[in-house]
Amino acid sequence: MSLDDITARIRAAAKNADRPVDSVTLIAVSKVQPDARVAAVLDAGHRCFGENRVQEAAGKWPGFREIYKGIDLHLIGPLQSNKVRQAMELFQSIHSVDRPKLARAIARVAQEEGHCPDLFIQVNTGEEDQKAGVLPADTDSFIAECRDLDLPLKGLMCIPPVDEEPSLHFALLAKIAARNGLSGLSMGMSSDFESAIAHGATHVRVGSAIFGARQAG
Ligand SMILES: *Cc1c(COP(=O)(O)O)cnc(C)c1O
Repeated sequence: MSLDDITARIRAAAKNADRPVDSVTLIAVSKVQPDARVAAVLDAGHRCFGENRVQEAAGKWPGFREIYKGIDLHLIGPLQSNKVRQAMELFQSIHSVDRPKLARAIARVAQEEGHCPDLFIQVNTGEEDQKAGVLPADTDSFIAECRDLDLPLKGLMCIPPVDEEPSLHFALLAKIAARNGLSGLSMGMSSDFESAIAHGATHVRVGSAIFGARQAG
């Protein structure tokens, strides 16, 4: 288990960027990992985790929550409008807000329930057809739309294309966030979180580097 290694590397990267060492939150991405590996990371004292499927998280985390206190769960994968209520019960943050219909559904439930998770807007910085997220050119207006709905916007999230230099995408996301007065930047995964931190990441989403490779399928 290399949680300590990753934590040390995050602190070093923050220091190199002249940032406070505690300015970066590590989201341990536990999707598809066996419960024993997740429990080992919980036993080590870590409490912040990411899942990309509502259904999988719903099967896994209520049980852990009976044993471990203070778990902070982040949804980092796509969210269907009909799963909004369930997602808002399970997760403290949602990183995949990417369309007006979803924003309106979240706002409706937030009003009924009187609380709302922290929200990140996913930006499709690579403008990839198969990838979720709002296009960079549409992001300013979507942010304004979410603010009109009184949604608690924390920041922006991106997943760079696999075959491109991620730092260009991190820089673009940081620029869009800055001009909109958003401080949160959810970017950086196992292979590139140090570069993301150099570009201002406040939340890095690291899976395989902590837990080991995910089982295929
Ligand atoms: C799986 C996943 C990660 C973690 O990926 P690793 O390469 O295992 O660190 C990060 N972000 C998202 C959105 C993911 O789906």
